[in-house]
Amino acid sequence: MKTILFGVSALLTATVLNAQSAPVFTAAGFRSHVAFLADDLLEGRDTGSRGHEIAARHAASQFEGYGLVPGGEDGTWYQRVTFQKTVRGADRGSVTISGPGGEQRFAHADNVLTGLHPREPNLDLTAPLVFVGYGVEDERLKLNDYKGLNVKGAIVVTLRGFPKGLPSEEGAHISAMKGKAAELHGAIGMFVIATLQSQKAHPWAKSLEYANDPDYAWVQPDGQAFDEAPGIRARALLNEPAAAAAFAGAPRTLADIRLEADKANGVPRGFKLKTRATVKTSATWERVTSPNVIGLLKGSDPELSKQYTVLSAHLDHLGIKELTGEAPDADRIYNGALDNGAGVATLLEVARAAAAAPDRPRRSMLFIASTGEEKGLLGADYYARHPTVPIGQIVGNVDLDMPLLLYPFTDVIAFGANHSSIGPLVAKAVAPMNIQLSPDPMPEQGIFTRSDHYQFVRQGVPAVFLATGFANGGATKWGEFLANAYHSPKDDLSQKIDWEAGARFAEVNYRITRAMTDSDTPPLWFQGDYFGDTFAAKAARAARQ
Ligand SMILES: [Zn+2]
Repeated sequence: MKTILFGVSALLTATVLNAQSAPVFTAAGFRSHVAFLADDLLEGRDTGSRGHEIAARHAASQFEGYGLVPGGEDGTWYQRVTFQKTVRGADRGSVTISGPGGEQRFAHADNVLTGLHPREPNLDLTAPLVFVGYGVEDERLKLNDYKGLNVKGAIVVTLRGFPKGLPSEEGAHISAMKGKAAELHGAIGMFVIATLQSQKAHPWAKSLEYANDPDYAWVQPDGQAFDEAPGIRARALLNEPAAAAAFAGAPRTLADIRLEADKANGVPRGFKLKTRATVKTSATWERVTSPNVIGLLKGSDPELSKQYTVLSAHLDHLGIKELTGEAPDADRIYNGALDNGAGVATLLEVARAAAAAPDRPRRSMLFIASTGEEKGLLGADYYARHPTVPIGQIVGNVDLDMPLLLYPFTDVIAFGANHSSIGPLVAKAVAPMNIQLSPDPMPEQGIFTRSDHYQFVRQGVPAVFLATGFANGGATKWGEFLANAYHSPKDDLSQKIDWEAGARFAEVNYRITRAMTDSDTPPLWFQGDYFGDTFAAKAARAARQ
């Protein structure tokens, strides 16, 4: 009896003490941001649109109200990025494949999806085809799909994704670098064909929904659109009939290759195909500008405040789109309530709490609501290459993208947690809330390269991407959301969003960013880590935990 009484009174004291200093996160506070950002009036916040500009003013005005200072360019809240918007021409493009099976022409969106080159308005290119397996090359991972192959002047044909059995994050990265690898070997084009696994993760029908979308690239100071591998002039994704045409007369069948690729560590060898392809595309260009929104909270420690932690979330979404064959009265506004209204709401709530905390953060904190994420992580790429504070003083990044707030989550995933001391830091920071840190439950999605934090990683900054986990019903909700609502007009406020989960997610991220901001040592890459070794060879290391 006595012990229990003592226990109760101690607990009460703790609660009272906590109430004085701990920030409060509420369902209503969280909901207010998502409701504003996902309103039909913002028209889906497309990069370069008025709706996105209004969303940017919302973020800036909240930052100002919280007492942050402008962290953008010229003393403003904004870093304005100029983009080239490349729009498909009336001749929508085609791929013609010829060889032992005769000649077959596939119009764009008819079993081929052609990419648009940002520097070639009228492309008409013919080249032989060379199969290069997964088309990946990496010394550290001992992968070299180009060994013994001559692809100079050729279009390489690659399998989508990366060899089964590779860690998903390294795999997603080398997969994203395929164009660069092909360019280094002198190829001038790249075709991608599905594996058995990728057919399930990225069905052709879903890819077709992007067929009419313009392409975006940020514009360099010299006025040219930035392209990571400009030497790869032609790009296309091939569906079955087109892939079969490319393999006509090949020494090995595609079915056989796919079976090998479906085994753990299956790395099908490349070979010269007996076919060639002509790729035609036409495009027009426009320039649009769109801002990253940046708020700064100066740190309290005279020394540590020279270092910055970054919390980021993309503010843009897909805008308004018309899909072929849709009913005339179909909902066409991609409100992006969870993707990424929910991430931005989290960012704003954490900024509010950090600015109001009586115990000021020791390091400085940057809050970045980025643009152009849905166009290829472009706003974050631009920021990481043109940072408003020296990149060497940015010590860590937590990115928030599409937290699935449709159930009372009890675990979180931190994509990238295996690579740096941010992983253990996250686990420790969320433990008092009875939340577990879980490993990546969907490695086939290659999520590590699919949000803004990846651009910080490529500039050497340890980073994680935080999302809600698969426990407590999460697996089902993630499955349903990815199949039905992801990147569709259904990601709006009609979903049963659990606003209490939103408030909890904000608290989770407040605890994580505060831990990162206040710790004596900054986040460090683990010794021998792939990303640390690749992008921050000279940086200090932490022992792997
Ligand atoms: Zn998205």
